Amino acid sequence: MLRRTFLYLSEQPRVFSFIRGNALARRLASRFVAGETLDTAVAAVRELNGRGIMASLDLLGESVTAADDARAAAATVVQVLERIAAERLDCNVSVKLTQMGLDLGRELCVENMRRILDRGRELGLPVRIDMESSAHTERTLELFERDLLPVYGDGVGIVIQAYLRRSAADIERLIGLKARVRLCKGAYQEPAAVAFPAKADVDRSYGALMEQLLERGHRPAVATHDPALIGRARRFAEAKGIAAERFEFQMLYGIRRDLQEELRRAGYRMRVYVPFGTQWYPYLMRRLAERPANVAFIAGNVIRESLRS
Ligand SMILES: Cc1cc2nc3c(=O)[nH]c(=O)nc-3n(C[C@H](O)[C@H](O)[C@H](O)COP(=O)(O)OP(=O)(O)OC[C@H]3O[C@@H](n4cnc5c(N)ncnc54)[C@H](O)[C@@H]3O)c2cc1C
Repeated sequence: MLRRTFLYLSEQPRVFSFIRGNALARRLASRFVAGETLDTAVAAVRELNGRGIMASLDLLGESVTAADDARAAAATVVQVLERIAAERLDCNVSVKLTQMGLDLGRELCVENMRRILDRGRELGLPVRIDMESSAHTERTLELFERDLLPVYGDGVGIVIQAYLRRSAADIERLIGLKARVRLCKGAYQEPAAVAFPAKADVDRSYGALMEQLLERGHRPAVATHDPALIGRARRFAEAKGIAAERFEFQMLYGIRRDLQEELRRAGYRMRVYVPFGTQWYPYLMRRLAERPANVAFIAGNVIRESLRS
């Protein structure tokens, strides 16, 4: 019920204008978002790199409604790539196609993505395309496979969500294409016709797809905070003799920092997804939907800190 409420709220932009001015909400967001500017995000990446953890920077923003906004977002992502290169950060970039204008026109989106990927290629920095709601899955994969992967190869990666019923077929095809895949569970509100409603089925799907990717995929990313699945990935890789350099674990900024540290210490490649920017509202709502207890947990911390100061 709470999960559905947060996911509903994540799609209400009017609530955002109210929330953005709210001090408590901003502090809630700061647990999951590395500030509103590139400077604050770069500082977070530097701190992670200092601890031997790689990063992926995400300029928050999605579902843009004007072509100029999509072009402006692409220009900002190019600046992010240039800053990563200038500061020699161990970091790549993640983008959402609806931020690049996917809903406004395929050509606009391809044009924006080429601009980003051309610069990424010049700088030797790969770009990952996040996966959004199922209304965009087919168009995202079609555009990735037809226009981007053949041109940019390893310079561009994609995301597959284990909760979608279609994902087993998608993974099989992407393995054949030698595409770089990040596997996650999936964060959107989806109908039972397209996604498994029960968590047990999502976890089962994740385990099976993860093993396919580890064994036959091309530099896959296991993106989860689920200790059972992470343990299973480690045991599977060990049993099959898959070297730790051939895959990486990924987690979200501010979530399970202890586990991030533990995996790094155990010699695994660990990357943290670092979102930043002013458009943090839908992202925050999806994080709260995953674990509604976060509201109480973070509010408790904020109150404790305020009492101390
Ligand atoms: C690097 C990365 C990139 C992602 N990219 C995408 C994407 O492109 N598209 C997409 O749909 N989804 C994406 N996701 C989100 C993903 O789909 C899940 O919604 C999210 O990771 C929670 O699922 P989980 O695998 O951690 O497992 P869960 O079963 O949800 O959680 C396992 C455990 O992790 C911890 N945990 C999980 N979420 C939280 C939270 N919000 N706060 C505190 N603790 C938490 C808890 O301890 C929980 O018990 C991404 C996730 C990661 C890590």
